Amino acid sequence: MDSTYSSGKFQHKGKTLTLNDAEDILADSRDPAELRAVWEGWHSIAKPIKPDYVKFAALSNEGARGLGFKDTGALWRSNYDMDPDAFAAETDRLWKQVEPFYKNLHCYVRAQLNDKYGDAVQKRTGPIRADLLGNMWAQQWGNIYDVVQPKGAASSYSLDKLLVAKGYDPIKMVKTGENFYSSVGMSPLPETFWARSMITRPRDREVVCHASAWNIDDRDDIRIKMCTKVNGEDFYTVHHELGHNYYQRAYKDQPFLFKNGANDGFHEAIGDFVGLSALTPTYLQQIGLIDQAPGAEEDIPFLMKMALDKIAFLPFGLMVDRWRWEVFSGEVTPDHYNEAWWKLRLKYQGLAPPGDRAVDAFDPGAKYHVPGNTPYTRYFLAHIYQFQFHRAACQQIGWKGPLHRCSVYGEKEMGQKFNAMLEMGASKPWPEALATFTGEKTADASAVADYFQPLNAWLTVQNKGENCGW
Ligand SMILES: [Zn+2]
Repeated sequence: MDSTYSSGKFQHKGKTLTLNDAEDILADSRDPAELRAVWEGWHSIAKPIKPDYVKFAALSNEGARGLGFKDTGALWRSNYDMDPDAFAAETDRLWKQVEPFYKNLHCYVRAQLNDKYGDAVQKRTGPIRADLLGNMWAQQWGNIYDVVQPKGAASSYSLDKLLVAKGYDPIKMVKTGENFYSSVGMSPLPETFWARSMITRPRDREVVCHASAWNIDDRDDIRIKMCTKVNGEDFYTVHHELGHNYYQRAYKDQPFLFKNGANDGFHEAIGDFVGLSALTPTYLQQIGLIDQAPGAEEDIPFLMKMALDKIAFLPFGLMVDRWRWEVFSGEVTPDHYNEAWWKLRLKYQGLAPPGDRAVDAFDPGAKYHVPGNTPYTRYFLAHIYQFQFHRAACQQIGWKGPLHRCSVYGEKEMGQKFNAMLEMGASKPWPEALATFTGEKTADASAVADYFQPLNAWLTVQNKGENCGW
């Protein structure tokens, strides 16, 4: 399944396209016919994965039952220090907290797409066409910022351009990331990190460029592997990947079984939390990338960019495993795999495919984590935890301004609490780890609402007269 996915290619206008090529077109093209063709082309590669996935699901369930679980979905849901059913309800509760904001964003973006493409391509009501959002899975919408940007409110700087203008190279990008962690009191990365990491794409061989972080010896041999480009996206990714490494090193003295995140959502949220500070104009000024942080008039464009990635992601982060839970439990049978996928895509994301899907299509297989069999709810959780960490950290440092301007750079006292949580690894139930840093014992998506409050208010005004929802 993995290799069918990663070697997937299809024909488009006489050319053979890989996923990379297809993703570039989805991001940059504004031609709905081309978008549809490329979207359908990539999804066609997943068709042959289906028979394998049917077999795989049965085998996987057999293994889960051997371990005493009802099915693989229950096994996955058992990793959160609570009853598997209670965990499912917990994710529903968190989703309900952010759903109104997502619907507000969906409504605004749909109206902009309707303005741009007209009714024949994107209606002003109902679901959004999944190929119009700048990303193969419509999981992050930042690539269509140009289509939806608030009128008359431009950003005065572009992080992409600043990094190039200030002479950043891939090493300097990673050094800058390290410097952030050092500023809150973490020890520098070991020499071996610099000697053994892969920071740029090697010239002499094919590699997997998808960014990842590793701890090779469960001690100090931490490394990242990425083909770092000098742009804002990779600037953020560096902070994300280093978060995994600092977490791994912080819990290295725990017994073997506890050398892990408090739960898998924590592992993804650590670097994202640091990234939330690292993207603020406050921080860019602190490290001399900009001379002066822009005024409040740039808050809405800034928050819009953040929301297109962070908020648009939430329902996708939830629905991937909702689908797999239904598959593993047998609630959805192989005949209905694709239908069930689109039912959930509609329910949570408010999306529809660009055209009717063939009866034998297997669209879930066109997303890496399904053939790759990586649980996905962790990313949903991480997108909530990171804002909770951020809000708590900003309270600790006595930040008085809006949350989206808060940078915890240089805050060593905050860093001590942060590190205390990291050092716990998986030795305590995750609510205790959460409380160690934030003082809160439950996951709380109200931090997301707090962070985006100005944008949500702005969207509500923009959406006046629109028929929101789908
Ligand atoms: Zn990660």
